[in-house]
Amino acid sequence: MSHEVRPKIKALPKVLLHDHLDGGVRPATVLELAKEVGYDELPVDDVQGLADWFRDSADSGSLVRYLETFAQTVGVMQTRDALFRVASECAQDLAEDGVVYAEVRYAPEQHLEQGLTLEQVIEAVNAGFRDGEARAASAGRPIRVRALLTAMRHAAKSRDIAELAVRYRDQEVAGFDIAGAEAGYPPTRHLDAFEYLRRENAHFTIHAGEAFGLPSIWEAIQWCGAERLGHGVRIVDDIDLSGDAPTLGRLAAFVRDRRIPLEMCPSSNVQTGAAESVAAHPITMLKELRFRVTLNTDNRLMSDTSMSWEMQQLVDEAGWNLDDLRWVTVNAMKSAFLPFEQRLTLIEDVIKPGYDAAARNLGS
Ligand SMILES: [Zn+2]
Repeated sequence: MSHEVRPKIKALPKVLLHDHLDGGVRPATVLELAKEVGYDELPVDDVQGLADWFRDSADSGSLVRYLETFAQTVGVMQTRDALFRVASECAQDLAEDGVVYAEVRYAPEQHLEQGLTLEQVIEAVNAGFRDGEARAASAGRPIRVRALLTAMRHAAKSRDIAELAVRYRDQEVAGFDIAGAEAGYPPTRHLDAFEYLRRENAHFTIHAGEAFGLPSIWEAIQWCGAERLGHGVRIVDDIDLSGDAPTLGRLAAFVRDRRIPLEMCPSSNVQTGAAESVAAHPITMLKELRFRVTLNTDNRLMSDTSMSWEMQQLVDEAGWNLDDLRWVTVNAMKSAFLPFEQRLTLIEDVIKPGYDAAARNLGS
């Protein structure tokens, strides 16, 4: 949207593990879909005004206003055609930004208002991703986009959604996640879903440690068996910075020792107040301590961001260099819910050559 991204950063291959489908809709598409389906609750009716409204509401510091932005995008994503279009555009936008592999998440249960079944929602989104991949490939920007099915923490559908994640796992559904307000809704509330997934050898991540503290991270890992942490930024609460060198508590040490990937989203955390600025975001300290850090967008529309913009801010404000960007990208690819050999192929054939080429460019 409005940010100037340097072409050299845009050209870098990127891997995205934490991006919400309903958080990345193009403002123009929200408007057009609203007209098509007769949705009349949008606060403004021009593209720039709507883009500003999304960002400002998300910036406002008010959770109510922040959540209202998702009510608007979800509100227009209630038909097969709308879901198909949003998913296709998502794949195309990510490819245009240099993303070569993405896992995009959404909660099927939020798209049933006009009579779609959970299965129809999943199939519409899958078809849209395939369409977007095909268009991106013919534009010379190949990308692979897989889905993560999210269950809402406050709801009671997690077991059903987990079963769907297993049923569709050979159709580019990579895994499962739970999202929504952490406080009051601990991940153990959904233990049944996680135990089922483990018995099925299926993959899942859990939103934990975004605003809420260490107990949420501890439950997600030690009770639920999460393979990755959505955000996980509060793990810094278990790192003592008062001495000469940082000292890790037992939970932080466990997360680092076990190489548990942290799906970190700096811009999003600044917006919700989980971090003060991108410069001060714990991602840089956690990188220096060699946690398995990955870099992500979370909600591209609400945060007015992209993978390139996240990278550029870290370079400009937090002292990151090309090696750091390459490192988080390889970290993310290693952490993807994708068969091992396919991960290796993307690392060796796409990511490393892309960064080698960028390094040569910088040297010249
Ligand atoms: Zn998220």
